[in-house]
Amino acid sequence: MTFKLIGGHPAVDFVNTVGGFEPALVELLPGYADLVAWAEQAGLITDDHAARLRRVAECEPGAAAATLSAARRLRADLDAVIRAELAGGAPAEDHLEAIRDAYLAALAHARLTRRSAYGWQWPASSADPDSVLWPVARQAVDLLSMTDLTRLAECSTVNCRWIYLDRTKNHNRRWCSDDTCGASARMRRYRATQRHRAPAARSE
Ligand SMILES: [Zn+2]
Repeated sequence: MTFKLIGGHPAVDFVNTVGGFEPALVELLPGYADLVAWAEQAGLITDDHAARLRRVAECEPGAAAATLSAARRLRADLDAVIRAELAGGAPAEDHLEAIRDAYLAALAHARLTRRSAYGWQWPASSADPDSVLWPVARQAVDLLSMTDLTRLAECSTVNCRWIYLDRTKNHNRRWCSDDTCGASARMRRYRATQRHRAPAARSE
């Protein structure tokens, strides 16, 4: 499947891997292969790494399933922190501790390497099923520590849970996606206009 990466940050896009509308939400990561595909499309792992992880998952389905569960837990913890931010409150401490733990687990596999500056680098093509999650944990911490969280916003469509970083100059982005929720809103406005005009036309 092709994922819609509209969040403006990989960690936001990761939270958006729950699709659909409340209460009929859709799990967009039903299997480990979907998690790998998402990470590949989000640019967090290379094509070669993704291909290797798909092969590993066939040999180690139990480990792959455990990674998928950990990914969904991380997603739920990040979701909880973001919703708290959106509501103007502080998240529960256990969510922050869980994100820290995922980050520490990822760092255990990273090397500090020098490019233009020193930074964390993970093995290019690890065979560890968890390796798909390491850059996700890193992005989660990057989002919370390096990003202007006042730019976080939730789609204006009622029951749409998708979030995004509003990078518009005037903070006036309203929809998760212009061609889904934005298009639906335009259609509703158009129909309302037509309904408003119709009685007037008959009275003439
Ligand atoms: Zn939406």
